[in-house]
Order: sequence, then structure tokens, then C-alpha cells
Amino acid sequence: MILAALVAASALLTGGCRDSKDAAKNADRTAAAANAAPGAGARQRPEMHAEDFDPQPGTPPAMKISGQKAYQNLKDFVALGPRFLGSTGHAKAEQFILSRLAGAQVEEDKFSVDTAAGRFAMNNIIAKFPGKKDGIIVLAGHYDTNYPLKNTSFVGANDGGSDVGLMLEIASQLRSHPPEGYSIWLLFTDGEEATVAWTSADSVYGSKHLAKRWSEDGTAAKIKAFLLLDMIGDKDLDMDRDTNSTPWLAELVFRAAQRTGQASHFSGRNIPIEDDHLPFGAVGIPVVDLIDLDYGFDNIYHHTTQDTADKCSAASLQIAGDIVMESVRALNTR
Ligand SMILES: [Zn+2]
Repeated sequence: MILAALVAASALLTGGCRDSKDAAKNADRTAAAANAAPGAGARQRPEMHAEDFDPQPGTPPAMKISGQKAYQNLKDFVALGPRFLGSTGHAKAEQFILSRLAGAQVEEDKFSVDTAAGRFAMNNIIAKFPGKKDGIIVLAGHYDTNYPLKNTSFVGANDGGSDVGLMLEIASQLRSHPPEGYSIWLLFTDGEEATVAWTSADSVYGSKHLAKRWSEDGTAAKIKAFLLLDMIGDKDLDMDRDTNSTPWLAELVFRAAQRTGQASHFSGRNIPIEDDHLPFGAVGIPVVDLIDLDYGFDNIYHHTTQDTADKCSAASLQIAGDIVMESVRALNTR
């Protein structure tokens, strides 16, 4: 009941200063997800608890990433221009990501899909860094920009740019420091954005496609954890605690934030968020969404041409990166 009231209140507040389409978008985006229920795969997994993963003194330190380099990646990426489905910017974005992943084991998951705005070719890009333990940790984020904003200068510096910037920095570190524990796969998803208006049908096209494939080919069962990064570049970083995430994994990430001294960059807000993690959660993979859905006062920059690199910072990418790497370190203790 409290949750429902909070979501309704936030929709009302948003509606007061944004157009009705955006108000609907935010309301839908935080609505309880019909497809969030764990799939059959979840039942085959042992029950997990975050406290079982806390690293003891003496375990190897988390890999250090550079927030400055992640931020430079973000700026280089958004300089390509808008990256909506079917655009030349989208093709450039694919080539940019592939060029920065040179030397890694890369898979392109290309497919076509009918969307609410017509048929589009999409491409999920996966960089695989083999580890020494049997199992996979997936770090994911989308690279497309919002399609309904295609006639504007929208470049999604935070929304689609921040996660790419950080993941490319992690890729660069993994090239010189291969994983000692589980394999790490960096997944750049396509078609996350709605093509007309956000619904469970008109969103996360790339993730729905790949989650189905990974469920069918047995990959899903090997994935220990799926950490989604979205809008983590906001200068004023205040991440939500998503109630659609797998509880033990969300708690593990929060504990990692406490250990790195960054727990204050989580807000006290517990809300259900619809994002790329849901299709993977639905096939039984433990998932967590690291997202700050409060970008500028009352989320005012989200899905506007104000979503530019100057609203993001190297410091925020450093914080998010440190939390992610500390989470990976914790996951590797089991
Ligand atoms: Zn978006």
C-alpha cells in the first residue's frame, strides 16, 4: 500500500511539470512488473543470502577502475550524436563499442523485431572475459537512445551513455587484468527504449530476445548474477532501491556500497522499476538494477535534450564503478 501511494504521488508530481506522455512514462516505468515473477530456473537455484558473500579480510581487493576514463568514454560516445533505432548514429555507436572492445572475445547478437514503430534490426553486443571459476557475472547496460525523441538533439549522456562509458572502462581494465574468479561478460543491450510509449510490450526488446536465447541454450543457468547499470552518471548520484530486483543480490550491492563508503549515494526510496533486468529475472537469473531515476530536480532531465554530459560526472561514474567492482569481489567469495 505504501509503495502504491508512493508511485501514485510521484506520478502526480511528475505530471505537474511535464507533459502527460512523460508522466505516463514515469508512472509505467515504476509500475509493478507483470513479467517480474521468477521463471522455472529460479527454483533450481539454492536459496541465497547477501551475508554469505561478505568478503573476509585478506581476500583480493576489488579491481580499480577510473571514473575519469569512464567519463571521457561517455563524452566520446555521446559526441557520435543520437543513437535511436535505424539511425546512422546507432550504426556509429555499434562500431564505436566494437572498436573499443578490440582484443576481447566479442559476440554480436543480431536480430530483427517488430516494434510498436515498425520493424528494426537490433544488435546486443557481448564482450566475454573468461575467468578461473565456473560461472558468469554479467554487467549490462543499454546503448540506444530514446526513439520518440528522434527529431530532437537528445543524446542520452546519462540514459544510455553513462553505462556504456563505465562498461568500456571496465573492459579496458579487464583486458590487462583478466578475471581471477567468475567470467565477466559485458552486455551492451539494444532496443531498451520504448519506440512509442513505455509498456512491457514496447520496451527492452534486446533483453527479451537475449534472455529467451540464454534460457534455451543453457547460458542462463551458468549466470551467477546480472548487474544492470542505468543512469548512473548523474552528478547528484542518488540511486534507488529497486523492488523488482532479486532481494539477496540487491542487498549484496548495498552492502558493497557500505564497504566502499558510498551507501549515502543510495536514496531511501524503494520503488519497483521496469528495465532491462526483468526479462533475465523472469528466466531465473538473479538480477539487480543500479539506477538513479531522479535525474535533476524531480527527474527533470530524463528524456529531454538536457540529458547532456555536463549533467554527469567522473565522480559519479567512479562511485558506481567502485560499487560494481566491490559487488563482483563479494560474488567471487562463493
Ligand atoms: Zn531512457
